[in-house]
Amino acid sequence: MTASLDIDAYIDALPSHRLRQPLRVPLAYQESPWPLLRAYNGFTGEERRRGGQLIGWLQTAGCLARPSRCDICRSRERVAFHSESYYHALRPASLCNACHMALHKRHFAWDAWRRIVGAHAVNGREWWAITPRHGLAIAEHLRARHGWAAADIEHSPIAPLPDAITALLPGNMLHHSRIFTP
Ligand SMILES: [Zn+2]
Repeated sequence: MTASLDIDAYIDALPSHRLRQPLRVPLAYQESPWPLLRAYNGFTGEERRRGGQLIGWLQTAGCLARPSRCDICRSRERVAFHSESYYHALRPASLCNACHMALHKRHFAWDAWRRIVGAHAVNGREWWAITPRHGLAIAEHLRARHGWAAADIEHSPIAPLPDAITALLPGNMLHHSRIFTP
């Protein structure tokens, strides 16, 4: 399954959120004292932090509704955003803590993960029903087509934000070592 999985179709299967007008303008991205996460789907810890900063800003600004219900099991317990593609700020999934942890542990706890999928999949084409055990090279796939510009999520060529929102973004996103900022 992994070899034949079409990454563009997989991205298309991710949720897509509509942006609202900002209610307020947070003056800075949230900075975190925690170490960077490991890479996921080819996105580095730096890119995961940057994606989290942008999504956090959009939520605080009121542009992106906070997640309330798990996309997999419909629970409302400890629901948070989860990104499969950190280059698509408006396509995070909403996952409860239990499903979120099971997803991230699936490479070594595959049977437990597949029990969750089996209990909740409706047509088996949900992104989480087809997600492979060891992840996908989504970042590499997007960079092969768009270059490092794909990583510039504040000015994304693949998931552009409205100019009116880009103009409000603060200047303190974690630096990306491959993006040149004049
Ligand atoms: Zn869940």
